[in-house]
Amino acid sequence: MRYETYNETIKLSKLGLGAMRLPQTVLGLAGPIDEPKAQEIVDCCMEHGVNYYDTAYIYHGGKSEVVLGRALSKYPRESFCIADKFNVQANPDYKAQFAEQLARLQMEYIDFYLLHGVTDLTAADYENCGCIPYFEEQKRTGKIKYFGFSFHGTPDCLQKLLEKYPWDFVQIQLNYYDWYQGTAKQQYEILKEHGIPVMVMEPIHGGMLANLPEECLPLLPSAEFSPAAWALRFVMNLPGVAVVLSGMSDLQQTKENINTAGLEHKLNDEELSCLEKISEILRKKIAVPCTGCRYCCDNCPQSLDIPSLLSAYNDYRDEAAALGNAELAVWRLLRLKALPEEKQPGACVGCGNCTAHCPQALAIPTYMKEMAALLG
Ligand code: SF4
Ligand code: SF4
Repeated sequence: MRYETYNETIKLSKLGLGAMRLPQTVLGLAGPIDEPKAQEIVDCCMEHGVNYYDTAYIYHGGKSEVVLGRALSKYPRESFCIADKFNVQANPDYKAQFAEQLARLQMEYIDFYLLHGVTDLTAADYENCGCIPYFEEQKRTGKIKYFGFSFHGTPDCLQKLLEKYPWDFVQIQLNYYDWYQGTAKQQYEILKEHGIPVMVMEPIHGGMLANLPEECLPLLPSAEFSPAAWALRFVMNLPGVAVVLSGMSDLQQTKENINTAGLEHKLNDEELSCLEKISEILRKKIAVPCTGCRYCCDNCPQSLDIPSLLSAYNDYRDEAAALGNAELAVWRLLRLKALPEEKQPGACVGCGNCTAHCPQALAIPTYMKEMAALLG
């Protein structure tokens, strides 16, 4: 495992375990976590030197903190760092939420504490609710070691936030797709300019860069590494990146990520140009760049499984592009007819709560409406 010195004091493993996609016994929105399998993943990470574990109040409906805390309880507290996040939408009572988090984790302090998923829309909610001075106070008392935020907004919003508060670190969505096709590069450069350590989330864009379309595979710089490994190598190579989080759901994936994190990561210009070409193909191909983070799901009054509905929509659009005919591609949506009516796109009431909570600001109600019309 490679390590990065943070704040001139602690060594953080280049790879961190993101606990938002832990294995489940039943897949789906409220599926329970498969705790023995989650323990195996944590044990494998600890055994191979991973010392950064990231969770949040809302992951797995609140169970991620509990399971992660239990899985780590057999290890000395100083042998790992825990990162956890305050979510203003889930419960604006920041004092109560913070106390609940410590209780769920069964820990006395949190190493890295973040405001969760700050966007241009939610930045004011976090600033106005009074939580920032409270968390700074917790930092003085040692209940929080380092204070930052995870970010899904515009570079302009990021710049303003950095000018207002003395953040210890910032977590951004960074991968080669968002670097070449989105604003990740700008965000990274703003953070570098301010000398703020970068924690990386979504390094493989919610799995998109691990499951590349067939025509992208020959463009990979070499077949020596998997598509996921190339994606990880891209971000791990960037100076100023402290930790790269990966939401590991099984042991095989965990071991592959650990191997990748141990490699020398410098990519040359030719390799970078290959990844850029892949990102261009993906941009043309993928209609809706949903990462599967599920932040929208908790806020849907109809409890729709939004990411899986959007995945069907992407299949449909993909087929329509391949056939050059949208009508003939509708069969790709037919699997949705097997869902109970109240779970189909037609059940969407168009409230827009999902878009408001989506880090990618996807126009979800529009896609739901289009699918409902096609299925109708
Ligand atoms: S717009 Fe539709 S999908 Fe989005 S939260 Fe409302 S009901 Fe759910
Ligand atoms: S629609 Fe947005 S919030 Fe929902 S899973 Fe996809 S990226 Fe996440």
